[in-house]
Amino acid sequence: MRVLKFGGSSVANAENINKIVSTLKERIGKEKLVVVVSALGGITDTLINSVAMASRGEELYKEELQKIENRHLEMVKELIPISQQSHLLSLVKRHCNEIEDICSGVFLLQELTPRTKDRVMSYGELLSSQIISAKFQSEGFENKWTDSRKIIITNSHYEHAVVDFELTNEKIQNYFANSVESFFLVPGFIASDINGITTTLGRGGSDYTASIIAAALNANALEIWTDVSGMMTADPRLVSNAKIIPHILYREAMELSHFGAKVVYPPTIQPVMRKNIPVWVKSTFAPSDHGTLIENTSIKNGSSVRGISSINKIALLSLEGSGMAGIPGFSKRLFETLANEQINVILITQSSSEHSICVGIEEASAQTAKKAVDEAFADEIERLKVDPLIVENDLAIIALVGDKMKSHPGISGKMFSALGKNGVNVRAISQGSSERNISAVISTKDVKKAVNVLHEEFFETTYKQVNLFITGVGNVGSRLISQLLQQHQYIQKNLRLHIRVVGIANSRKMLFNQKGIDLKNWKELLENADEMNLGEFVKAIQTKNLRNSVFVDATANENVAKHYAEILEKSVSIVACNKIAASSSFNYYEKLKNLARESNVHFLFETNVGAGLPVIGTLNDLLLSGDKINKIEAVLSGTLNFVFNNYKGTESFAKVVKRAQEEGYTEPDPRLDLSGVDVVRKIMILARESGEKIEMEDINNNAFMPPQCMLGSVDDFYACMEKEEAHFKKIFEEANKAGKKLKFVASYENGKAKVGLQQIDPSHDFYHLFGKDNVVLFYTNRYTEQPLVVKGAGAGAEVTASGVFADIIRAVRI
Ligand code: ADP
Ligand code: ASP
Ligand code: MG
Repeated sequence: MRVLKFGGSSVANAENINKIVSTLKERIGKEKLVVVVSALGGITDTLINSVAMASRGEELYKEELQKIENRHLEMVKELIPISQQSHLLSLVKRHCNEIEDICSGVFLLQELTPRTKDRVMSYGELLSSQIISAKFQSEGFENKWTDSRKIIITNSHYEHAVVDFELTNEKIQNYFANSVESFFLVPGFIASDINGITTTLGRGGSDYTASIIAAALNANALEIWTDVSGMMTADPRLVSNAKIIPHILYREAMELSHFGAKVVYPPTIQPVMRKNIPVWVKSTFAPSDHGTLIENTSIKNGSSVRGISSINKIALLSLEGSGMAGIPGFSKRLFETLANEQINVILITQSSSEHSICVGIEEASAQTAKKAVDEAFADEIERLKVDPLIVENDLAIIALVGDKMKSHPGISGKMFSALGKNGVNVRAISQGSSERNISAVISTKDVKKAVNVLHEEFFETTYKQVNLFITGVGNVGSRLISQLLQQHQYIQKNLRLHIRVVGIANSRKMLFNQKGIDLKNWKELLENADEMNLGEFVKAIQTKNLRNSVFVDATANENVAKHYAEILEKSVSIVACNKIAASSSFNYYEKLKNLARESNVHFLFETNVGAGLPVIGTLNDLLLSGDKINKIEAVLSGTLNFVFNNYKGTESFAKVVKRAQEEGYTEPDPRLDLSGVDVVRKIMILARESGEKIEMEDINNNAFMPPQCMLGSVDDFYACMEKEEAHFKKIFEEANKAGKKLKFVASYENGKAKVGLQQIDPSHDFYHLFGKDNVVLFYTNRYTEQPLVVKGAGAGAEVTASGVFADIIRAVRI
């Protein structure tokens, strides 16, 4: 004997029912089968909606009822041969007339009691089960339709009736013992009280019907046939990489469903667990898939966490008060009050102290709870010993479930650190005393992100998803996108990171795609996207609330840098090649660093100094390992190095500068390079990273440009340089005559930094610095005589983009 249950989507239409028939064909007759079915998918909701409309006096309920009738009539016509339809069509008509009669009563009275609601809902399963029974009959499979209201007896707590197992077991056993048939069709969900009044077992209750029958009959197995191939590591509607759990313990399945895994209705496991009856969860649409086996023995699967689930629409109730310590049994009174109102406590937090207690319940019951608890504690509230009950709404519970979690330390640490890194605020925590679950109360808006973050942390050996928002798609930004596209497979395979660009903006347009922008086509997509609005772009990062988000600033824009603080506050990392933030006031720089630390994210700007060269990274590594920076000497301007390496007094200085700009080495405004300001910024950033509280004004800039060339526009600047050619030639020739080269050098020592043009002797490390190269010499406690040298191309879009790329990886890997 086996009990099989087919859910709403499995019986939603004729095509699906035909699938069931072909799956069961081979099995009918070989073993006694009891098939329990739900209402056709969506019908229970429509029934509730119709009668609720009637109770509000909305006449349109009739249209809803018509839809219900049509759907069932259509189904009969599609499933059953014409010659056998008439009996069934009139049965559907009769039932639908009854529903209509009840609804018109409700419409007249404008009152809907739970008892009436149960009666109306029951027609969903009554209709589906009789149609399916007739379908099997018409295919030649004799079966007995069995009214579950005759064999499952409950109390009269409508909508959530409690089963009287003693009476029910006896009735089920007698009924089946006295039936000669070997194939039964039974409506799920519905039952009746001792007076024969229809009750229901709670939404999703058909699973429970099947379990009750299986347990009473000591069935060989219970099979739950649904629209997914088993219980999964997370709700597949939230986590696209959720995986089937092939084996799971009763206790674990129970916890998962208690915390929201809708695939099995929570009370279902209990009856079959007591009888040690194995439960299979299988897909009607992929019957050959293995599915999930729920049983008593555990099979190791390598992870101590078995699954993650979540429940929305939770309210948190907090009862607090300074006088509570003196009130005996206050928590007992709280729980009794809630129980008297039939309010189910889903979670009790560990923070329950002498002065406060905090519980999670369904949001729908929050107002009833508030009223009842405030009444129960009215005396104490009046005497100011207890505060009125605090109710917080819009919350959700997420839970990690696994029987083996107790023997693995550090799981909750990992859980909360992963949530923290992604800015998910945890309102309350509860760890079951069995340690079979760890649950947390969080805001509803964070659920999808939180479940995905935890799924990546505990299950995904495949990859972790990273979401990038890129501002600035000029030279650097567009190279970055090409590199991301080119390296996508490699990064996924080797680092197990799945990097997606979900937002791109330039100064004119902004483009979003939560599923990842097509990087082969981004230019065209961006051209046709919305007008750029920086405030909106930043807001979108927050509202999209995606996990492992990184904001990439590849602009040189001051306004973009002003938004960093609010981005970091939302636990989104920042990778910037824009130098403005790191070289703004020390206060802002420090604030951003602290914010990143507090929010557990990264603020990285390696490319601010030496483009793609590992300058800041090296400096940080030295400091981390306990070294101390005594002196830094560096050539930090790729542009100036290029200019002085190429300027020989033949081609004009202005033309050489122009070439540097055309090669993409200069800042968008080349005067920032020529004035030495860009180098001042860089040495200041290095000094700050070395621990110095230093500002731009503290740095001496021995500039070489004629001051009059720095006024006016960029065109004026070029024109002025042409005019002042003699000035540049003189500087060059002085150095040349002495056998020296010109380098714009930055240095930092004893808390002081300075920059300026210097004549470099052939014996110096800087002499052989070609092209647009940069070099940084670190003199430290460990590198005393010979400095640690970082040298190489210090400008250029391609290398800068690769430095940004490396920062992105750094931001998300740890
Ligand atoms: P039925 O109508 O067959 O009873 P349900 O809709 O009640 O089906 O339950 C199946 C659905 O449960 C799946 O389609 C899936 O969206 C959802 N679900 C939520 N959590 C899980 C989980 N952990 N594993 C599998 N499915 C889940
Ligand atoms: N039809 C009922 C519901 O939608 C019971 C079930 O499908 O299990 O809640
Ligand atoms: Mg269900």
